[in-house]
Amino acid sequence: MTAPGESAAGGTALSVRGLVKRFGAHEVLSGIDLDVPAGRVTCLIGPSGSGKSTLLRCMAFLEEAGAGTILVGGEPLGFAETPQGRRRLPPARIRAVRASIGMVFQQFNLWPHMTALGNVTEALRVVRRMGRAEAEAKGLAQLRKVGLEDRAGHYPAQLSGGQQQRVAIARSLALEPRIMLFDEPTSSLDPELTGEVLDVMRGLAADGMTMVVVSHEIGFAASVGEQVAFLDGGRILLHGSPRDVFGKPRHPRLERFLDTYL
Ligand code: ADP
Ligand code: MG
Repeated sequence: MTAPGESAAGGTALSVRGLVKRFGAHEVLSGIDLDVPAGRVTCLIGPSGSGKSTLLRCMAFLEEAGAGTILVGGEPLGFAETPQGRRRLPPARIRAVRASIGMVFQQFNLWPHMTALGNVTEALRVVRRMGRAEAEAKGLAQLRKVGLEDRAGHYPAQLSGGQQQRVAIARSLALEPRIMLFDEPTSSLDPELTGEVLDVMRGLAADGMTMVVVSHEIGFAASVGEQVAFLDGGRILLHGSPRDVFGKPRHPRLERFLDTYL
């Protein structure tokens, strides 16, 4: 048996301590503590506006928290606590740690003028400065992983929403992140297309990818999640295994949330 935050697959991939985020006077995250176990799926659920996206964005350093720390593989992300206080790290350190994080958004944001393969290889070519042949071999391997090798030459407009989101996942995987963050990856898809994206995510989980998933797909959270955290008003109100969190009797706030989304 492993408790939430521990993992048989090997330690903590990412840990959040005392994270506080404000937008002006509005405190959106009010002291978040969370350990993401390596090789496992952590699911974040909660009502709209509870701070789920902001928390994920802080984990990817797309937002800077006002207090608290995030460690990725033991390395501080963005800010480090020192005897002199909280200190912003140099850009090269920040880039190096951020490189281990991949993120997939609700909106796929593919380049419309590039093929599926072009979208997947773009960052390899531009950011990683990889040659065309090597980038394309890597890109095709990632498209194969999401079941779209045969669509490599298609443009986004020629692909369904589910296929576009799978290309976006392949694009993120091509950069070989150690942790994948998903922010409502199926929320802009027609219901009949969510399954193919969730199947790709299940496959990644089975391969041992460390994942943090914000989703209203409670069935996914219950079946794939090692742990579930329920956010409400910028705090983690409930945290534990899916059985702990979803089992009855349920917390009244969670019950009300599930009534809205199920
Ligand atoms: P969720 O993803 O759970 O719906 P968000 O993290 O998107 O919640 O938002 C949490 C709160 O922070 C909301 O009240 C939202 O309006 C506010 N917020 C999010 N991003 C910004 C921003 N860039 N500027 C100001 N307020 C923001
Ligand atoms: Mg959100």
